[in-house]
Amino acid sequence: MPYEYECHQCEVRSPRRHDQRAQADADQDEHRAAAHGGLAPAAGDGVRRVHAESRGDGRLPAGWPWALAFFLALLLANCWGR
Ligand SMILES: [Zn+2]
Repeated sequence: MPYEYECHQCEVRSPRRHDQRAQADADQDEHRAAAHGGLAPAAGDGVRRVHAESRGDGRLPAGWPWALAFFLALLLANCWGR
């Protein structure tokens, strides 16, 4: 599950989600250094786990076996025609 950094004071989040927590921690250090002089913001911040989006998660869309069967059928039909 990916991680993202969020600063509650600035109401900003990591520009992108990270697979590794250490990368999100690096976002936190970077933001604290840039926006808060290296200190933790008073309103709080932190790295949290977020649910993976349906795409880019390494999962195939629902119904992929039918799509595979369809393309196989097309391939076979093409071969038999010769
Ligand atoms: Zn901030």
